[in-house]
Amino acid sequence: MNAADTICALSSPPGPAGAVLVRLSGPDVLSVVKQLGAAMDARPGSYFCSLGIDDLPVPCRINIFLAPHSYTGQDVVELLLPGNPLLAQWVLAALLRRGARLAEAGEFTARAFFNGKMDLTNAEGVAAVIAARDRHHQRAARRLMDGELTAQLRRPLEAVAHTLALLEAEVDFSEEDISFISVDQRRVQVASIIAQLSDLLTRSPRLEPLDRPPALVLAGRPNAGKSTLLNALCGWERAVVSPEAGTTRDVLAVPLLLPRGWAQIEDMAGLESAGGAQAQEPQSSLANGQAPASQAEAARAMQEQAQRRLLEADAIVLVRAWDDWRPAISLPRPADLTVITKCDRGAALDAAAGHLAVSARDGRNMGALRRALDRLAFGHRAADKLALTARHVRAIELALEALQRAQQESATELAAHELRLALDHLGSIGGRVDPDQVLGMIFSQFCVGK
Ligand code: GDP
Repeated sequence: MNAADTICALSSPPGPAGAVLVRLSGPDVLSVVKQLGAAMDARPGSYFCSLGIDDLPVPCRINIFLAPHSYTGQDVVELLLPGNPLLAQWVLAALLRRGARLAEAGEFTARAFFNGKMDLTNAEGVAAVIAARDRHHQRAARRLMDGELTAQLRRPLEAVAHTLALLEAEVDFSEEDISFISVDQRRVQVASIIAQLSDLLTRSPRLEPLDRPPALVLAGRPNAGKSTLLNALCGWERAVVSPEAGTTRDVLAVPLLLPRGWAQIEDMAGLESAGGAQAQEPQSSLANGQAPASQAEAARAMQEQAQRRLLEADAIVLVRAWDDWRPAISLPRPADLTVITKCDRGAALDAAAGHLAVSARDGRNMGALRRALDRLAFGHRAADKLALTARHVRAIELALEALQRAQQESATELAAHELRLALDHLGSIGGRVDPDQVLGMIFSQFCVGK
């Protein structure tokens, strides 16, 4: 990644749209764009103009940001073009011919980091905001992007630097009769930093689980209407629907867009009787020439897989046909919601509290089902909190270990060494703390220059 290059990229998703955005960054962006015939001022602002792409005039809105007041900290130009993807390709090709090159993945944000526009946690937040698949994820990502972790680390980080500065002064002036910090004072200070960091670790959920969509599993007897329900929720014929029992054999997982974000809905082999993971009778239509013993084995394996998914699921939705009066199937844990299906055929007499009577055929209560699934999927997700990645957690844990060693150490030099390690680990989270700079800042407050 050479920061002297002028880079360009399509910054909007590929495909037809109302408008597409091409973004450029680098020292020569203004001259590169001018070569396309854009009549524009080299001043920050937003202008309408016409680009000449191989004799084809392309109307364009140009946004200009001059260094250092831009996302990357370099000169940045955004070209907002009519939403035909071909136009964007032609404009990009013309920019490449005039000296720009295509940006690598994340290169705009990398430039922002190297130019001091953001630290590593902000950059991680930017990536997470783009990838977030639901509202909780989006909020946690935004907190990271907005620098909340950096802000929360500032106090412990400065406290480590301050204590370290005192210890180093103690070492530097050991010949003279000056004491900067006693062992007891140091222990109290380090204990307070340990408490702050431990508190941050315990109250902050992890960001990675938010990447995984919540899994909602449809469980019920064969023919209860699970596949039909899944198809109706997804809006397309994903699962095979058949009046014959036992057509769904493997677990079928499909992304489902709910009001608060993406979940995963799973349809699985119908669970038979109250015996739980009992194998179904293999269907002759699926026999496919297999020997009956191996079919039974396959059916058993599928039932076991279904039971495993039930245990792992974020929520179990028990699906029952309105006219099925047999005892409920046994589940490894109680269902979170019971859905009574096929209610277009008759009223569900046992549609009691906690039961939702629906019909995938005439759409009855399907909106209510969608809202209920949304509550099951996202109601329990970590509240609106800052979330930490595995990298942040590891760095804080390593800093805590060093601080604990520093606390037990009585020799000043060894304690200082441990505090310096702690500072490095905490600094690695933002990727930008220069310990000497922090120490310099602290030392400048002391009157020891005699
Ligand atoms: P699964 O084995 O639980 O996946 O059940 P299916 O979705 O394959 O449905 C079994 C049978 O019930 C099929 O013949 C479906 O057409 C029928 N069925 C499912 N849902 C409804 C519904 O809401 N109304 C009616 N009338 N029939 C349904």
